[in-house]
Amino acid sequence: MTFSTGVAAALKKVTIRTEAFINGEFTPAQSGETLPCISPIDGSEIARLSACDAADVDLAVKAARASFESGLWSKLPPRKRRQIMLNFADMVEAHADELALLETLDMGKPIRNTRNADIPLVVQTIRYYAEAIDKIYDELGPSPHDAVSMIVREPLGVVGAVTPWNFPLLMASWKFAPALVTGNSVVMKPAEQASLTMLRTAELAAEAGIPAGVLNVVPGNGAQAGKAMALHMDVDAVVFTGSTAVGKLIMGYGAQSNLKRIALECGGKSPQIVMEDCPDFDAAAMAAAWAVFYDQGQVCTAGTRLLVQNSVKDEFLAKVAAVAKSLKPGDPLDENTRFGALVDEAQMNTVLGYIEKGGAEGAKLVCGGGRALSDSGGFYVAPTIFDGVDNKMTIAQEEIFGPVISAIGFDDFDDAMRIANDTIYGLAAGIWTSNLNYAHKASRTLRAGNVWVNCWDGSDITTPFGGFKQSGFGRDRSLHALDKYTELKTIWMKLS
Ligand code: NAD
Repeated sequence: MTFSTGVAAALKKVTIRTEAFINGEFTPAQSGETLPCISPIDGSEIARLSACDAADVDLAVKAARASFESGLWSKLPPRKRRQIMLNFADMVEAHADELALLETLDMGKPIRNTRNADIPLVVQTIRYYAEAIDKIYDELGPSPHDAVSMIVREPLGVVGAVTPWNFPLLMASWKFAPALVTGNSVVMKPAEQASLTMLRTAELAAEAGIPAGVLNVVPGNGAQAGKAMALHMDVDAVVFTGSTAVGKLIMGYGAQSNLKRIALECGGKSPQIVMEDCPDFDAAAMAAAWAVFYDQGQVCTAGTRLLVQNSVKDEFLAKVAAVAKSLKPGDPLDENTRFGALVDEAQMNTVLGYIEKGGAEGAKLVCGGGRALSDSGGFYVAPTIFDGVDNKMTIAQEEIFGPVISAIGFDDFDDAMRIANDTIYGLAAGIWTSNLNYAHKASRTLRAGNVWVNCWDGSDITTPFGGFKQSGFGRDRSLHALDKYTELKTIWMKLS
């Protein structure tokens, strides 16, 4: 099967920007270096991205600083900033089909996902923060009668955002929307595997009225552009979404440079627990499968450790396996495809390596387990389930970031809690039970930033998102996210 004509035809419907967006203009990397932009749909090169390095990051930071100091954005009355952000959301919405197509071409997730989830959620995120900004008040302290204490929030200045490829524009919007509405100037460093939507969106932001220099984008490799941003002496904060390993590096760069504020949204190895009193085994099986197979498992909250009470495990796993087998990898550009490609060849090989390791360490392969659609030239792995997994095994401890479920049996509630929390991560967890006591006890016992009861992945822009333990700190989404982009200032005024 070949998809190459699909990619070529789709490319004609999108605007591809490949250069850095600095001070309102597209600018090539000063070194002239470029990076290949490969579509994982068929392995073809669809563009060459500017490979920015420290010199380009410095230029972008200078533009951001100058725009911040100018006050053109940072001192704009909140209602005006709100209006421009609403225009920005409208622009993204007006280009939603194009952006969805671009995202799918760039990173291989099904077009039905980018069209129905990623891009509409980006619009919602920008609107949510736009609407918030003229409705938030500062505080007055309980000061004595001859003094006034005011506790005000001020923008940080220049915010750098380093973001991943799995929900490229959505994860970026969770950073740039709250950073912009609070009056900061921003430099985005999208993942090198998927930068196209962020570059195009910066152009739309400028058309919507965001002043030059306020939203800049420097594409390039993490080890060059991302590192340069985190080490830069004039960046006030770096907000990061990505792997725990790189999150640790970013913290180090912050410490080595100017003690910039750091917020990290990192990886996960989330447990989903199915008790024998699960209220609806069919619904739970469907949710358990989609918790890992949505976007081919490239989701930070993927429920990759499936903990099932031994009394119901075989029956339940058979149901999950039936869902897995029904999910055939297919052309991401086809509207009927529900399971697409992995982001690139390296990621595919990483996932296949973990699958091999699972077998070698004694886990039992239930279904999947190999590459699919290799004739297409793209990077596909079949939905895979392992049974008989011990929580100490590599596939139960390390984040695979691919479509692999590791099923682990347990005897009772306490056993489930112990296994669930036996991980360095703490991003998400869930339990299926009819027992109210178990539901409440699990919600408080599970060490994770998101806990789901009788569902998976219930979430909304109005609720905070982030992790415990090595899944990071700081929260995206909701009004709590605004804390990351502002400094608290106390003003004490003595009255005479
Ligand atoms: P990654 O850590 O490899 O890369 C993330 C970003 O960091 C990219 O922009 C990359 O270029 C940059 N980077 C790489 N090396 C760098 C360095 N030395 N210095 C500075 N920047 C550097 O992650 P990824 O593979 O793009 O994304 C997958 C990871 O993201 C998974 O671990 C996933 O769990 C995590 N993730 C977390 C959340 C969350 O909200 N917690 C959401 C989505 C993804």
